[in-house]
Amino acid sequence: MRSILTMTPDELTQASDCTLAESRRVLACLLSDGKRDLDAMKRPVSKVKRAQLRQDFECSLPQVVETIEDPQDQSLRFLFRLYDGKLVEAVRIPLHKPGRFSVCLSSQVGCAMGCDFCATGRLGLSRNLQAWEMVGCWLQVRTHTQGVVTGAVFMGQGEPFHNYEQVIRACQVLSRPSGCRIPADGITISTVGLVPQIRRYTAEQHPYRLIVSLSSSQQAQRAELLPIAGKWQLEELFDALRERHTLSGERVTLAWVLMGGVNDNPAQVSALKQQLDGLPITLNIIDVNEAREKGYRRSTPPERARFIDQLAALGVPFVRRYSVGLESNSACGMLASKRS
Ligand code: SF4
Repeated sequence: MRSILTMTPDELTQASDCTLAESRRVLACLLSDGKRDLDAMKRPVSKVKRAQLRQDFECSLPQVVETIEDPQDQSLRFLFRLYDGKLVEAVRIPLHKPGRFSVCLSSQVGCAMGCDFCATGRLGLSRNLQAWEMVGCWLQVRTHTQGVVTGAVFMGQGEPFHNYEQVIRACQVLSRPSGCRIPADGITISTVGLVPQIRRYTAEQHPYRLIVSLSSSQQAQRAELLPIAGKWQLEELFDALRERHTLSGERVTLAWVLMGGVNDNPAQVSALKQQLDGLPITLNIIDVNEAREKGYRRSTPPERARFIDQLAALGVPFVRRYSVGLESNSACGMLASKRS
């Protein structure tokens, strides 16, 4: 049965007996006000039409199996069971302002990209999430939250651009006035760097933020760390990013998972500076998490300081990002559908 959660008011109007105004009210009740079933709504549509909607459309959500709070940073990992029994996570992330949260969402069950330092990559890909499942996870997190959930980041299980259409549809529902009403710039898509999809995303002019994982300025090493991304030469990637900057006027955000003795050499920064060739960027530096079995470790403070000093010396803007959820196996690269 078709889920009502990702329908537009126009689509619902065409597929039911509701007027456009009624469709807007129904979707606002479910997505904006968080009513969990059609009967809980206060007079959006008549009893007869409610019965018809119940009969024709699905509005169930992924089931919360368990939640685990991280003792260090109060992030909250949600483990969900999907309609076919598959498990997937979302992580509620506290923002700087008390009582405000964002949600790290999964876009796939597992992942096909095989990034060498990532636990999700070792699962392989089970299947794509449908847009309604991603929206449903977000709604469940909001329902279990006292406070305001103001954002969504696609950095959980999966490569969002490997499930392009469904992720974009989910973003549209999350940001739509008749949907979850997140500001478009409160939604971030993080990609490992699939060049054709970056070009498509730019051409389609979506308003959501984009982060591209770089993690090495050397082609051969990048292909080892991020095997799929290695399909494209770094020059092709930077051409796509340059095109994006030209069309959007936005500074490009790159991510760099910092690994001790692997990609924290100042020479990496010098090579990056050359590749940028004036392209305005911000480099998000994130310490690698839990990949000891693959031999990855965090940079020592002196190693990290040398890398950062070189960024500063060459004028490459950077921000250190701290991933939440280290103690609860919910930090970047650690999501693997594990139960506590
Ligand atoms: Fe997939 Fe992201 Fe993990 Fe790479 S880092 S394997 S793209 S989930």
